Amino acid sequence: MKKSKKKIVITCCFVFIFIISLLVSLFQISKSRDFQFFGKLVKSTETNEKKIALTFDDGPTENTQEILKVLNVLDVKATFFLCGIGIEARKEDAAAIASNGHGIGNHSYSHKRMIGVSYNFCKEEIEKTNRLIREVGYKGEIYFRPPYFKKLFMLPLYLQNSNITAVTCDVEPETYLGYNASPNELANNVIDNIKSGSIILLHPMYKAENTLIAIEKIVMTLKEKGYTFCTVEELLKLYDKNQ
Ligand SMILES: [Zn+2]
Repeated sequence: MKKSKKKIVITCCFVFIFIISLLVSLFQISKSRDFQFFGKLVKSTETNEKKIALTFDDGPTENTQEILKVLNVLDVKATFFLCGIGIEARKEDAAAIASNGHGIGNHSYSHKRMIGVSYNFCKEEIEKTNRLIREVGYKGEIYFRPPYFKKLFMLPLYLQNSNITAVTCDVEPETYLGYNASPNELANNVIDNIKSGSIILLHPMYKAENTLIAIEKIVMTLKEKGYTFCTVEELLKLYDKNQ
């Protein structure tokens, strides 16, 4: 091979490796729980107080009333990240979440992955859902959780411009154990990984039975260990107060 040809091949290899590395890095960033390119993102808070937040994604669905019943018996307030499309279909359930004193967050309108989408798509998805959340009577601050935690450039840019905080989580048992995990496995994973200021994510809107039983064990065990459950808004305001 001629010297100049060899040089071209080596350069092409370097460019190829660089592009692959860049794509892999962007993929990792797109699903990161603790980093985004613009705006504020929170996965847990720094606090010495034993306060934690229980959060649920998706819905509302036909399981909402059962979830509210369990939380009511346990005397716990949680935060529900709802989709606009779900609120439109079940306004009464969304209103019941608000009137029971739980937090409501925005989980987009359609639950589409928000990467490779335009700025306006993000704006419409979030603003439409925020309007629906207000319509059902929720008065607290509205945080945003990206579907599948996917975000890259346009979504964080819109969130920054709109002063909306993105909230992920630091304890997510279903991600590691799968959705068929037993209530005990789910609960033990939360109990083993919890710390003051943690934000727990569960999905009782669709996989209700095991998760509902797990919620009971999680709450009872962690209360015995001295933890207090609060909404995401309370948890984040506590952090802001300590700054
Ligand atoms: Zn979701």
